[in-house]
Amino acid sequence: MPNKLYSIAKLGMSTRTVELETDVTSGLHVFSIVGLPDKAVEESKERISSALKNNGFKPPRAFNKRVIINLAPADIKKEGGLYDLGMALGFLIDSQQIEPVFDLSKTLVVGEVGLNGIIRSVRGVILYAIHGAENGFENIIVPAGNKQEAELIKDINVIAPDNIGELVAFLEKRGEIKDKKPIGKKAASVKTQHDFSLIQGQENAKCALEVAVAGGHNILFHGPPGSGKSMLAKTATTIMPTLSYEEALEVTKIESVCGNVSTQNPLAENRPFRSPHHASSESAIIGGGSTLNPGEITRAHRGILFLDEFPEFHRDILESLRQPMENGSITVARAKGTVNYPSKFMLIAAANPCPCGYFGDPKRECNCTTASVIKYQRKLSGPIADRIDMHISVPRQHFKKISSEDLAESSQSIRKRVEKARFIQQNRFKNDPIHTNSEMGIKEIKKYCAIDANLKNFIGLAIEKYKLSARAYHSILKVARTVADLANSESIQRPHIAQTLQYIKRDMEII
Ligand SMILES: [Zn+2]
Repeated sequence: MPNKLYSIAKLGMSTRTVELETDVTSGLHVFSIVGLPDKAVEESKERISSALKNNGFKPPRAFNKRVIINLAPADIKKEGGLYDLGMALGFLIDSQQIEPVFDLSKTLVVGEVGLNGIIRSVRGVILYAIHGAENGFENIIVPAGNKQEAELIKDINVIAPDNIGELVAFLEKRGEIKDKKPIGKKAASVKTQHDFSLIQGQENAKCALEVAVAGGHNILFHGPPGSGKSMLAKTATTIMPTLSYEEALEVTKIESVCGNVSTQNPLAENRPFRSPHHASSESAIIGGGSTLNPGEITRAHRGILFLDEFPEFHRDILESLRQPMENGSITVARAKGTVNYPSKFMLIAAANPCPCGYFGDPKRECNCTTASVIKYQRKLSGPIADRIDMHISVPRQHFKKISSEDLAESSQSIRKRVEKARFIQQNRFKNDPIHTNSEMGIKEIKKYCAIDANLKNFIGLAIEKYKLSARAYHSILKVARTVADLANSESIQRPHIAQTLQYIKRDMEII
């Protein structure tokens, strides 16, 4: 009689239940798997046969019978290895080699088997556990290496054997699954070496970064090489609010899909910081490729995406940042299907004054042509640069400042102010679909950034003086709202706007 077990298919971050039907009947010897791509079928057959043989069971070929395994529905993409364990179990049951006492009708089974019967870890387990809990499954069988990850989800019972023999003994109630010490990948959360107390000088840039992080504003640093732009960017995560549990789960899900979750401490502890090189491919940054994997912008979700040498990135790549910057998610469409990934990141960009980096430097000569300098700087006025509210100059530091032994204010102390400002925003937007000042549209700006005629006039004069665009007016109000929040002021006052004017993009400011 055919039996049915349950497993899962994943496309991007979405999951669907897959039924594994096994049928062993008399007839000419056949071992066939339907519902998997061709190459994966052959590989799975080999792994399952060897694993069973090496664990004292008869593999499908040892029976003079028809063995058909069907993975349904057939129309969804399935990755081969994930179903090995479910198919092996289904075959053992239907060929009457085992008699489980354990009820498998409300159990999901995922895991790849090795030739010796060891059950190998798979990617995406946290998504499978969530899927199981949300779809009425009571248990999930996962590889031992994925135990801690699956156990992050409380509403489903996790069974995590490390080999087929141990699992069969458990299902027949002849043995227990032994609790193993997690081995393998160490915790990814090595405490960061970066701290604002270690950055000497750059007071203006640090202050601007605090404002940017507090309001979730994108920020661009420009200045000569070696002025500390990268260091500032790397340190930004240390002043961001601590991840909430929901956010940590979101980050963990993405890392799980990428196969990058720590075995011991699977839950993400730190906000991500991703810094792709400007020569990276579009699929590496945006996502996609042959496997529809998440890109850097998704791995930066809830953290920071740092684009160093911003003008060197290909125009098409910068252009494709538009959708994620507006919606907080990215749709990746390829021949294999369409997937949607979260990508809510704060963008930090950095730019040199010119391709060689020394344009305008009093001590070193720039060897770029005028045309290449103009071309480089023009990239700073593209549509993406226009979506960066804050443009900050980071000059090279005087040696005396760098060599000072005094510690500057710590990240922890700055983070407290940022968290307070975020709390104010949380209350402000409790009935709106947004969370931070940077996300305000015209409607919210009108509602929450009301200023009197005098202040309007003050901004108007600045716009004229610095030849700012119309878009700049709204940027000024959004950033000024954050400056006011950091000062715990209900209304936006003149000093808040004066401070903000130092942070606003001015055309051709480098030349
Ligand atoms: Zn140059």
